[in-house]
Amino acid sequence: MPADELLNELRKRKVGDIQWDKGKAFCLVYHPGEEIAQTVREAYNLFFYENALNPAAFPSLRNMESEVVSMCADLFRGSGKECGNITSGGTESILLAVKTARDWAKQHKPEIKKPEIIVPETVHPAFHKAFHYFGIEGITVGLDENFRADIQQVKKAINSNTIMLVGSAPSYPHGVIDPISELANLALEHKVLMHVDACVGGFFLPFLRKLGYPVYDFDFFVEGVTSISADLHKYGFAAKGASVIIYKDNALRKHQFFVHTTWPGGIYGSPTLSGTRPGGSIAAAWTALHCIGEQGYMDLCKETMETVRQLKDGFAAIPEISLIGKPDMSLLAIGSETIDIYAVGDELSNKGWMFDRQQNPASLHFTVSTIHRQSVKEFLEDLNLAVEKVNRFSLRAMSDNLKIKAVRTLSSVLPAGLISRIQAMSAGNKSLPGRLAPLYGMMGALSGSGDLETIVLNLLDRLNSLE
Ligand SMILES: *Cc1c(COP(=O)(O)O)cnc(C)c1O
Repeated sequence: MPADELLNELRKRKVGDIQWDKGKAFCLVYHPGEEIAQTVREAYNLFFYENALNPAAFPSLRNMESEVVSMCADLFRGSGKECGNITSGGTESILLAVKTARDWAKQHKPEIKKPEIIVPETVHPAFHKAFHYFGIEGITVGLDENFRADIQQVKKAINSNTIMLVGSAPSYPHGVIDPISELANLALEHKVLMHVDACVGGFFLPFLRKLGYPVYDFDFFVEGVTSISADLHKYGFAAKGASVIIYKDNALRKHQFFVHTTWPGGIYGSPTLSGTRPGGSIAAAWTALHCIGEQGYMDLCKETMETVRQLKDGFAAIPEISLIGKPDMSLLAIGSETIDIYAVGDELSNKGWMFDRQQNPASLHFTVSTIHRQSVKEFLEDLNLAVEKVNRFSLRAMSDNLKIKAVRTLSSVLPAGLISRIQAMSAGNKSLPGRLAPLYGMMGALSGSGDLETIVLNLLDRLNSLE
């Protein structure tokens, strides 16, 4: 096919995708503004075909990688002995940190046969992926009242099989920084490793601190922290496929590497998980750091926090909605004690907004960046409308608590055939939010009111007469 036809075809295929460039997606995409993006894109193109697998062939890439790592170590207040690599993303950085810990323990704690790593409930699933891949026992601990790792539970979980503790800066679900200093103290005390997952915060928190915001210490400034992961392709605004894994020294990083010396194809060595590594993403990461610079990141950060403040104010003005925990940066989760937050989510999705739906507690999650400056007002208007609509049709607004409980319980135990019949009763009412419709239908089937038992009996009676 001719090039212009192909490119037109690609543009057409984009039509159904989320409109992140209009600020509609509170996840997945990080964009620094078109001017910077243009430069980063050009940098990627300059190294589009180059391969960082063999550093001897492309000293350009090797030097850029070293410079990025050393800039990051500096950003994370290292001592100067740190070393690391650029990886394809947060997941690879985390996989490597876990693999490194396993092999470090093989050498330094050979008596351990079943290595364990302790992680908070909110840690990114990439850790559980790593445990699955590398045969590690993951020990999950709960959170304190501020949604940070519960340090008492961590203390209890440490035993002679423990090889590493993990904390996030911040955790993705609630955007709060785990008690890194306390964790690192425990790690020192028990002579185990301590990884900080700064994948989402690594290129935000240091600038937030420089702007004068209070930021918990989370980096190499904290004694006992032995490795840090941070995603260049998130708030670093590099091209996708770029993260860093940084270790406190090269004795630790040595456990990350892989060599195979008897291959007929020659002696093969590889620093990270991938073999072939894209030159473009390394060049783009290097360029993003230099193009944006410290002042640039601080400006982006400041602008983002202004949008965060608008959102927080907007949330605070809606009595049904509450912020989960006290988010430390630009990741916000909202829940509700009085209305179905997922139904609010459905309403927002219908209007083209994209965000994550979370559980324990039920909440909606928003990752905020500068791209949302243009859309924050519209978003808050839509959120208000969504809450209003859900309120209007909420079972709670129509009836009392007991009924809702009865209907909820029944809807989960009744045979599917009955449910769909009830659903059909309310199908005519198109203005109802999707997931509320079946419950609304059931409420319609209810008659009278009274105590829970009477309600359930009445409901069962009506349902049975439907048969
Ligand atoms: C995004 C993220 C990861 C994983 O990064 P990927 O680049 O998606 O693989 C890990 N930890 C945290 C806290 C994250 O936000």
